[in-house]
Amino acid sequence: MRILVQKFGGTSVAGLERMKQVQGKVVAALNNGCKVLVVLSAMAGETNQLLTLSEQWSETPDSAELDALLATGEQRSICLFTMLLRDAGIKARSLLGHQIPIITDSSHGQARILSIDGERLKKLIEEYDVLVVAGFQGCTKDGRITTLGRGGSDTSAVAIAAALGSVQCDIYTDVDGVYTTDPNLCSTARKLDRVTYEEMLEMASMGAKVLQIRSVEFAKKYNVPVRVRSTFTDTPGTLVTKEDPSMEAVLVSSIAYDKDQARVTMKRVVDRPGIAATLFGALADAEIVVDMIIQNTSEDNRTDMTFTIPRKDLKKTLGVLEHIKHEVEAEEILSDIKVAKVSAIGVGMRNHAGVAAKAFNALHNENINILMISTSEIKITCLIEEKYTELAVRTLHDTFHLDKEHYKEA
Ligand code: ASP
Ligand code: MG
Repeated sequence: MRILVQKFGGTSVAGLERMKQVQGKVVAALNNGCKVLVVLSAMAGETNQLLTLSEQWSETPDSAELDALLATGEQRSICLFTMLLRDAGIKARSLLGHQIPIITDSSHGQARILSIDGERLKKLIEEYDVLVVAGFQGCTKDGRITTLGRGGSDTSAVAIAAALGSVQCDIYTDVDGVYTTDPNLCSTARKLDRVTYEEMLEMASMGAKVLQIRSVEFAKKYNVPVRVRSTFTDTPGTLVTKEDPSMEAVLVSSIAYDKDQARVTMKRVVDRPGIAATLFGALADAEIVVDMIIQNTSEDNRTDMTFTIPRKDLKKTLGVLEHIKHEVEAEEILSDIKVAKVSAIGVGMRNHAGVAAKAFNALHNENINILMISTSEIKITCLIEEKYTELAVRTLHDTFHLDKEHYKEA
């Protein structure tokens, strides 16, 4: 028995006509000899509407009740869709998270999946040809309904595919795959046939528009082959998969960017053990996620600490820094929000020198000043002035020939 997981997002299930297209994808898989586990999102806009409602009813909606309310969006789509299938003579039934069950921890609004009863799912899929499962939801051990965070249906689908023995998971959405960069910024962006889990995770802010990042972590952990594809076309999409040697031949596979950045500098803090711990400890306690960090070499026992944070957290960050300014003996706090990150990503750069130099050179040729640099094994990131984002993305995309076949070391 071949089992396929198919997940359809909000725009794919928004209304009867669209659901009929979804039905077509499910029937095609059945005709291919598969049993199908369909995971659905709420209809487009519905989760937001429910959120708005809760805000009208309550100033601080109870988080457990809010989850039970939000979960109704997916409940509607799976029941309506199952009716369509049954009318077409297909043996199908719907399943809510707690009916499987999908057990999560109790952090309402962003619960993590702890376990899924895969054996029960396997039994049910022997009895039915299609199971239609509500995405985004689960329940705690004591039976309270939880949700997995916005975009969480992707994670439901991948987790279910893992529980069924890491079967193929097709994520249907309104884009036809993962691109070498944002096609809105760069007209020569190309759809990738394959991308590794690691690259997809490094694309973070860009990739997250396509897949909830947590679903990629799950896929990587359980080695679930994930295919991102469009409900509205028949193209094969992009396979997100584990690395193989042929993928290492490609130095850079994508260019990502992130404008949601702010840069902060603590000027001339005293240079002694414990200063970085105090500074970043205070930020961590305030749940501020710090990204790039640079500590200058010191002069007269003083040094500068520069780091980046999400732009929305700037005010909070400055508040925290004001508080510890005396403790670290900082002379001044500077900040700048007109900055952006651009990154070149590729598993192939792990074993090749010169990729960073090539990227820096490309930015230099366009006279783009690099404010900060950070690197990982498979990513080079430069912080630049925000106004140069488009230019930097296009230049790097060209430099690594991403408009053509993947760039390979000559
Ligand atoms: N309906 C939920 C949301 O809008 C989950 C999902 O669509 O993946 O975030
Ligand atoms: Mg989504």
